[in-house]
This record gives sequence, C-alpha cells and structure tokens, in this order.
Amino acid sequence: MLHPDLLQPLEPTQRKAVQEIARVLQESGYECYLVGGCVRDLLRGMPAKDLDLTTDALPQESRKLFKKTIPTGIEHGTITVRMLGHSLELTTYRTEGSYTDGRRPDQVQFGKSLSEDLCRRDFTVNALAYDPISEDLVDEHGGLDDLKNRLIRTIGEARDRFFEDGLRPIRACRFLSTLEFRLEETTQKALSEPEVQKRTAMVAIERFTDELRKGLKSADPMPMLLEIQKSGLLSVFLNRANVESSGEALTDDELMFQALANQKSNNSGDTRPLEHGENRSLQALPIDVKRKRFAWFKERATDIENSSDWLVDIRVFLWLHSLFPYSNSSDLMAILKRWKFPNHTVQCLEASFLLLDALDAVGMKNYTGWQRSNGLPEIRKSLFQLSKVLDHRLESFLLTWQAYIQCIAPEAGQMKGTLDALNSSYTSDPFRIKDLALSGKDLMEMGFQGKQIGDVLQSCLEEVWKDPTINTRERLIEFLESTGS
Ligand code: ATP
Ligand code: MG
Repeated sequence: MLHPDLLQPLEPTQRKAVQEIARVLQESGYECYLVGGCVRDLLRGMPAKDLDLTTDALPQESRKLFKKTIPTGIEHGTITVRMLGHSLELTTYRTEGSYTDGRRPDQVQFGKSLSEDLCRRDFTVNALAYDPISEDLVDEHGGLDDLKNRLIRTIGEARDRFFEDGLRPIRACRFLSTLEFRLEETTQKALSEPEVQKRTAMVAIERFTDELRKGLKSADPMPMLLEIQKSGLLSVFLNRANVESSGEALTDDELMFQALANQKSNNSGDTRPLEHGENRSLQALPIDVKRKRFAWFKERATDIENSSDWLVDIRVFLWLHSLFPYSNSSDLMAILKRWKFPNHTVQCLEASFLLLDALDAVGMKNYTGWQRSNGLPEIRKSLFQLSKVLDHRLESFLLTWQAYIQCIAPEAGQMKGTLDALNSSYTSDPFRIKDLALSGKDLMEMGFQGKQIGDVLQSCLEEVWKDPTINTRERLIEFLESTGS
C-alpha cells in the first residue's frame, strides 16, 4: 500500500538520511525498510524517537557500504549508521529460536525475508514496515487497523508470545500509557496466565524497571500502573526475592516483600482512619484527585532542573505510597533498591516521606491555631533532614514538589502554605551545620575535642532553628557559655 507522506513528520535531514541509507542498500541489491516503533509513530503523525531500519544484508556486508558505522550490537545483527549528523540503527532480518531464560532467544538467527522479521515482533502495531524509496507500507499483521482502533494486540497467540519473552507483558502495559492505547481482550487476558507470569518472573529486573520508567515519563502513567496491578504482574515483581532464592528459607526482607505483595492495595479508596504516625497528607486526597495529579504534574514541572527525573521519581513515590499507605519509607526504599532503580529515585522517596512528615507536623500546628512563625523551627529542622538525604538537589526537589502541590490545589491549600514556607526558608534561613557562624575549626581553637564538637554544633544548630538572629559568632559563644559548654 503506497503511503507518500509518511516521512513528513521527520526533520528534513533525518528524512534524507533514511532515504540515503535505503538507496545505498537497494542499489547494491539488498532490501531496506524502516520498521517497528518508528513506523507506528510516524503513522500517528509523531516524530519518531529512534529510527530503526531492517535489511537482508548481513552486518559485515552493510558495514562495507557506509563511511561511518558503529558495531553497536553486531552479535544481534545491529550496526549504527551515521548519516547527515543522525544515528540510525540497521538490523539484519532475524527470526528467533527457542527461549530458555524467559527473555532472550538462545541464539539469534538471521532471517531471509522481511516477513520472517515481522513475525518475531511483539505487537501488530510494532510490526509495520516502510520502504522509504518506493513509499510502500507493509502491513502483514493487521497493524494498521489496530493502530486506527488504538489497540495493543500480540502477533499470533498472546499466551505463546508472552511465554516466549517475559518482557512483552510489561511492554504491553507500558504502551497503555506511552501510546494511550487499550489492550485487545485476549492479549489482556494472557497477562494474568500463571504460565506467562512464571516467565515474566525470570526477566532481568533492570528490563522491568526500564519499561516502568518509560511508562512513568508519559503524560498519564495511570493506565500502565493499574494494569500492572490488576493483572497480577506487580505481585510477580514484588515476589521476585522468592523466585531468586527458591528452596531456601526466606529472609526477613523476603518475608516483608511477600507481605507487601499480598497487602491489599489502596486503589479502591480505603477510608479507614489513620493510626498515629501515618502520613495523612496524601491519604486525605480524594481518589479522583490522586488520579488527576499524575497528568497535571507534567505540564507544570517542565522548567525545573532535571525535571524529567524528578517527574519519574516523585511519581514512583506517589505510586508506592498510595499502594502501600501503611508501609514506612525503609520498606518502600527496599523495593526500589531491589528493583534497581537509580539512587536518585530511592533518595527522592526517602526525602518525600520526610517532606510529608513535615507537611503534617507543621500543618497540624497551624491547624490547631498556632501562628505560622511557631512552625518555623520545625521547617528549618526538616530542611536540615532533607538536605542530609538530597544535598544540593534539595532546591530542585522543593521546587518540583511546589509545582506538584500547586497542581492539586485547592484540595491541598494547607500543604501549599507549608511548602511555600519551606521554600522561602530554604533561600533565607540557616538550617545546615555549614550555615552556622561557628565552624568545627573555631570550636577546636576554643578547646573542644572529638565527638564533643559535633554535639556542640548540633546544639547550636537547634538553637539557630528556633531563632536565626543568634547566628553570629558572638551570640553563639554567648549561648555556649550560658549552657556551660
Ligand atoms: P518506543 O517508541 O517506546 O521506543 P518501540 O516499540 O520502538 O517503543 P523499542 O524497544 O524501541 O520499542 O523496540 C523497537 C521495536 O523492536 C519494536 O517496535 C518491536 O517491533 C521490536 N521489539 C522490541 N522489543 C521486543 C520484544 N521484547 N519482543 C518482540 N519484539 C520487540
Ligand atoms: Mg523505539
């Protein structure tokens, strides 16, 4: 089927690069097609993120035809071709052999035809190919219809295709959010098949986390998160510890995971009263606000430093916290470490717990009729605790949360006031040891030693949280003398 305008959404030099690579290969007697996610996205009128080409030429043959190539994944038949300032991946047609690790075929076999290559792909909408020279669109699996109907459907029997590669179920879930499509019925049913889930349990955890992170960057990660949970895939990953140590007695850590995996989630709108010490701020939000906040958040936070990392990190926190509202920060940090999330995500979760505690503590004081100023020492103390977790990233953390809280206003008016106070205190108040007018060196000169120095600095700091005006050398020395230090 001819499709003359398909490359239109590409930048002119990108378009030329695609056509040039295809021309060179075809003039040497090979076939060459654009294939996979990029064709799908171009058909949706979107500029493709990565451009993948497929050919019957073997990697060593293709390498001879282009000036600049990089052997990116040569054992899988992939090279990168540099053309007009762009990098394009060129992969030899493949068929796939048997899978024993639930993820990667035991050996890569090069295929003879485009049809073979399309058959090994995961979903119909990802198995479209386009010849950039003849402008012919190849659709052998009904991908165009599914694209029109916004459906994710496996090629062939869903259960078999998921069983072949345990990552595919996770990909199916994340396309719900990145493409905003729905799952075709049998594809969706297969996600919950016990045999399929056993395979998914064997997938390298980093691959799961990569897909999860991709979905969390989308405008609305909720459809992905809900499907992961509904299908039982979430429990598979929470239970990973047990799979990895099969046969051996469970450690405390593993028992905790099992308990979490079986813990009833809060997405049904749990309204039981909170017990002492539980975070209230997020609990208090009505369920539809919790849903909305994921979407709103993206628009507002774009001008903050590293906003895309913060976006994912705070969403991870919001998700786990709403799933397990009665778990503490170290339980949830353990999940993230187990899932090999980057450190900044783990730190963000820890800091977000501290922040919610601060919002609760200060908010509660304001609520009970205290003046705002009475909450300030608490605010400075919170900033100190937060800076111990986040260091120089504290400022962008606070700004991102401020953007987020603005999104959920007016439901969160109280939280907003406290967060604004945290932000202004961050810029104007001393709250860390290094902000003190007395240093460890000064104390040493005054005769303090060893552990004493840390204790004295800490007591000065606590005094300064209460009243920043005493943060001068003279007044701190006065304070130390008055305490008999
Ligand atoms: P995105 O736009 O998010 O990158 P994508 O579909 O391009 O989505 P990639 O991981 O870039 O996803 O993969 C490129 C193509 O490779 C897919 O469109 C699909 O045809 C094929 N593919 C990727 N992963 C698998 C898999 N696990 N099983 C079968 N085919 C796959
Ligand atoms: Mg891609």
